[in-house]
Amino acid sequence: MNAAQHKWLIRSSGIVLRTDANTDAARFARLFVETWRMIPLADRRLMRRGHRYPGDLWMGVGLFHDHQRWQRGPSGEAAAQFSVLSDHLELTVRNAWFARLPDEHARCIIAHELGHCVLSATSPYHLGDAFAEEDVAEQLRAWGFDDEARMDFEAGCGLRTGEAA
Ligand SMILES: [Zn+2]
Repeated sequence: MNAAQHKWLIRSSGIVLRTDANTDAARFARLFVETWRMIPLADRRLMRRGHRYPGDLWMGVGLFHDHQRWQRGPSGEAAAQFSVLSDHLELTVRNAWFARLPDEHARCIIAHELGHCVLSATSPYHLGDAFAEEDVAEQLRAWGFDDEARMDFEAGCGLRTGEAA
């Protein structure tokens, strides 16, 4: 994949922005960068070291109305997903869900997927592990994100979490 064709979001970290038309790309980009910077540098480096790719592109992140990969989730209707692909990583979030979350909870969604990233960087078994979600919850607490408040908010307004991984 040619990284030059993509819009760099954080060039020094190899992160590119990909979004569907008519999504709030500016808000997603702002919140992604804020979230990334809230994660300790040591953990960001751990993610890079554990998931190595030969090119400049390391991770594609984006907001989508629909995404083909979401259908593979257990719910078949995922709202966010972290995927390890052959030539880069991918972090996707469903627009209709993200748009309804206040910034603090939206940052938790991004941090949650980055939690899968750091844990899969150190364990090749993480993504298929039955305890993956519990492990991510612990990682988010360590980083200082209140993901339980996000889930309470979603339950309160009838949003489905429907996360694939
Ligand atoms: Zn998860």
